[in-house]
This record gives sequence, C-alpha cells and structure tokens, in this order.
Amino acid sequence: MASDDGLQGKVAVITGGASGIGQALAVAYARAGANSVVNYFPGDDHDVQETVRAVEAEGGKCISLPADVSSEDDCRAMAQAAIKEFGRLDIAVAAAGILRRNPLSEMDDEAWNSMLDVDLNGVLRTFKTVAEVMTDGGAMVATSSIAGGVYGWEEHAHYAAAKSGVLGLCRSLAVELGPRGIRVNSVIPGLIESPQSLDAKNSLGKEGLDAAGSGIPLGRVGSVDECARAIRFLTSDDSSYVTGQQLIVDGGLTVRWPS
Ligand code: NAD
Repeated sequence: MASDDGLQGKVAVITGGASGIGQALAVAYARAGANSVVNYFPGDDHDVQETVRAVEAEGGKCISLPADVSSEDDCRAMAQAAIKEFGRLDIAVAAAGILRRNPLSEMDDEAWNSMLDVDLNGVLRTFKTVAEVMTDGGAMVATSSIAGGVYGWEEHAHYAAAKSGVLGLCRSLAVELGPRGIRVNSVIPGLIESPQSLDAKNSLGKEGLDAAGSGIPLGRVGSVDECARAIRFLTSDDSSYVTGQQLIVDGGLTVRWPS
C-alpha cells in the first residue's frame, strides 16, 4: 500500500549529510521516495559518496556538493542545487555540527565563537537561504542536543549554548514562517552512536557510550537511523500540525528518576 506521509517526490537539503544522522536521513528519505541534496565539509574526511551510494541503493537520488555552513553563500548554493537539479525544495534539515571539549579556563573568544558559528549561526544561514526558495507548506528541522537542550555538560558550555540557542531560533522561525505553511521543529538527540559521539577526545567515545547505555531506560544508546526516522516524521505530513516544538530522541534518558 502506498504511504500517505506525503514525502514521495519531495526534495530535501540536508547539511551534515556525509556522515552520521544526516547520512542516515538521506537514506530514510530515499526509502520514502524523497530525493536529497547533501553537503560534505572539505575539512573532514567523510566520504560523501557513501551517502550517495546508499541512497541510490534504495532507488533514490542524492546530489552532493562541498559546503561550509559558516558561509551563507555555501548554504545558498545547497538550496540552489535543489532547485537546479530537482526543480523544488520542500525540506531542510540542519544536521551539520561540531563538538569540542574546552574547560571554562580555556574558553577564549576563538573557541566560543567558532563553535557558535557552526552549531548555531550555521542553522540560521541554512534556514535563511532555503526559505528563499522553499515551497510553501515545507518543513525544517534542526538538531539540538540534550546538552543545552535539556542538561548542562561540563567543559562544553559553548556547545550547550549553541544547542540551546537552536531551540529559540526554531521556535521563532516557526512563528515567522507559519503564514507560509512552513513548519520549523527541533530534535533533541540523546546519546546516538555516530562519528561525533565516538570521538573520545571531545565526546564520550566507544567505551563511554557503552557504559552510558545501561543508564538509559531502553538499555542502550540510539542509532543514527532511529534519530533520522524521528526527523523524517517531523518533516512528513504525519506531523502536519506540529510546529515550533522539540522532539527528544533519547531512549528515555532525560525522564529517568536520578538513582
Ligand atoms: P557527525 O559528526 O557524523 O555529523 C556532523 C556532520 O557535520 C559531519 O558530516 C561534518 O562533516 C559536518 N560538518 C562539520 N562542520 C561543518 C561545517 N562547518 N559546514 C558543513 N558541515 C559541517 O555527527 P552526528 O552525530 O551525525 O551529528 C549530527 C548533528 O546531531 C550535530 O549537530 C550534532 O551536534 C547533533 N547531535 C548528535 C548527538 C549524538 O549523540 N551523536 C547528540 C546530540 C546532538
């Protein structure tokens, strides 16, 4: 039976689509009949062709291009690529992000500003430029985090500030773009196994993730596919009356009574 989630034939721009949650999302869209434009960040070693191949294996189409969300022009180039290649742009997901560990004593302007420039300002640039060409009735989702979105995290004040800021940004754009029928929501991922969380220097690393899993009500960390499918829901007709909201995708981590 054909799906009624409204994603068939839609086109999505996904920042951070060369790896992790963004990559899983491009594949999730392909399964739903939606095509995508993803970026790769030239400073990172992710192979964006992995995303393209995985999408094609599902019968979808995926255009990749280099883009840095620190540049408004690069963000606009992603939106324009959707129009040029597919003739429309219906969905934007800001999944690009960085994570750095900096104790307060080392939190200088450079560390603070470079984090916010990607994790907060990058979302603004993405949504500002896609809004220029997005179909009325479209949908946007940004990735916040339980760090900032719910909890504090020592030695990550800049990351938490950026991820907290993402929530206010999305709520405000939900109001501003509502008259065009464009919905703007956030996801708040908990512990999701991905290149970012597997980085033991700046995040938990493999051992830290394994240890944390037992403290989560569902007994494990989440997969990028599980997070991607929650994002897909927020950009589908299944959430057509949901805007300005945050969906926590954490296996119950933030509702557990402290033990
Ligand atoms: P990831 O590191 O695989 O994905 C981040 C992507 O962003 C990478 O492809 C990277 O190349 C890209 N990127 C980095 N800097 C960029 C820039 N300046 N311009 C364009 N792209 C850039 O990790 P992930 O877990 O998939 O992260 C996706 C999003 O989810 C991030 O915003 C992250 O903060 C957020 N998040 C992840 C978790 C988790 O547990 N994995 C938890 C909470 C929030």
